[in-house]
Amino acid sequence: MTDGPHYDHILRGGRVICPASNIDGIMDVAVKAGRIAAVQTDILPSAAREVVDVSGKLVLPGLIDTHGHVYQYVTGRFGMAPDMVGVQSGVTTLVDQGGPSCMTLPGFRHFIAEKAESRCLAFLSAYLVGGLEGHFYPDLYSPDGVDIDATVRSAVANRDLVRGIKAHAEIGGFARWGIRVLEMAAEIGKQSDLPVYVHFGQLWGLPESGTNGEDVDTILERVIPLLRPGDILAHPFTRHPGGFVNREGEVHPVIQAALDRGLKVDVGHGSHFSYRLAKNALAAGIVPTTLGADIHGYNTHVPAPAGTPAEHADDENHPFAGQAKFSLVQAMSSMMALGLTLEQVVPMVTSCPAEMLGLTDTIGALRPGMEADVTVLTELSGRFVLRDNEHTEVIAERLLQPVFCLRAGRRHEAVAPILPQAIAA
Ligand SMILES: [Zn+2]
Repeated sequence: MTDGPHYDHILRGGRVICPASNIDGIMDVAVKAGRIAAVQTDILPSAAREVVDVSGKLVLPGLIDTHGHVYQYVTGRFGMAPDMVGVQSGVTTLVDQGGPSCMTLPGFRHFIAEKAESRCLAFLSAYLVGGLEGHFYPDLYSPDGVDIDATVRSAVANRDLVRGIKAHAEIGGFARWGIRVLEMAAEIGKQSDLPVYVHFGQLWGLPESGTNGEDVDTILERVIPLLRPGDILAHPFTRHPGGFVNREGEVHPVIQAALDRGLKVDVGHGSHFSYRLAKNALAAGIVPTTLGADIHGYNTHVPAPAGTPAEHADDENHPFAGQAKFSLVQAMSSMMALGLTLEQVVPMVTSCPAEMLGLTDTIGALRPGMEADVTVLTELSGRFVLRDNEHTEVIAERLLQPVFCLRAGRRHEAVAPILPQAIAA
C-alpha cells in the first residue's frame, strides 16, 4: 500500500480545552479535509502531511465573538473589516450585533458573509435602518422605524445567517418614546423564535426637552418581564447609566431573578466596559454567559472609510473613543484579571455562544466531523497593565494572546493591526 498520510495536519502537544466535550489536557488535534478528524493523546506524527508543534500553548475550539460590528462601509465607522476582528485576531466566528436589518441583510450576505474568511452571522436589527450611526440620528430608532412583520419574515427566511434579534434599552430612546420599541423587538423575537440581545446603558443622547420623567434605573426592571429564557442582557458592566449596577453602586435586584429564569448575560466589552462596576457585579455573583468584544471603528483606531464626514472621523472627542487596540482574546484576559479562571472564561467564547446561536452541532467544540475551527493561544505570565475607558487600571498576571487559528482547516496567522501588545506593569 502506498497511501499518503492519513491526516492533513496535526496540532501536536498543546493543552486542549473543549468544555463541550469535557476535555482539558495535553492532546493532539488531527485535521482532515477541513474537518476535525481526531482529538486524542499521542497521534502518530507520521500519520499527517504536516505536524505543528503547539506544546506550551492553548488549543481551543475556534473562538466565537458574540458582539461584532463588521458590516463594513454600510454602518459608517462602526463597521470593521470582518477578518481583522475575525481570523486575523484568532476568532473564527463573528456575530454582527444589529448591523444588518431586514432591508440591508442581502448586502450583508453578499458583501460580508460570503466574502469573509471568518464565519459571519448576525443578530438582525429590530430597526428598519439597522445599526447605522444611531447616536448621530436617534430619530431613526423610534417605533415608526420598526416593522415587526418585515423583520420576522427576513429573520425566518435567512435562518442560516440570522441567529437572533438586536435591540437597545437605553435612556435616550426611553426618554423619547418610552418602552414601545422594546415591546416590538420582544415580539419579533417571539414570532421568529430567536433570542433577543438587548443593549443596556446610555447610548443615544437625551432629547433637548429633558427625559420625559424617565428614570434610567427603572429600565432593567421594565424590560426584563418582556424577555424570554435565552434572551440576552448585554453590557452588564457598562460605565454608562442604565447597566446592572445602579447609581447607588448596587447590583440591580432584578438581575438574579432574571438569570434564574434562564436569561443570559453577554459582556459586550468594548468601550462600555468598566473594571470598577465589573468588580461590583462579579462580587455579587453575576458571572456572564458569553463574552462579546464589541469592537468597532470608534473604539479602535482604524482609518475612517473614505468619504466619512470630518466631524464623524474625529477619534479623540468621540463619546465611544476607546483603547485603540483590542481583541476578543484581550477581553478574555480582562475577565481573568477580574478573578475569573481560564476554565470559566473559555466556555464564554466557545460552548456558551454556540448554545446562544443554536449551533452546538456546528461550532464551539472540537469534535470529530465538525469543521476544523481551532484557535491557538499563548499565555504570558508576569504583570501586565489593562486599562478601561474610565482609565481604571488592573494588573493581569496571565495575558492571553492569539497565535493562529484554523477556519475550516485553513490556517490564519494572528496579524491584525488592532491586536494589543503586552504592556508590562
Ligand atoms: Zn456594539
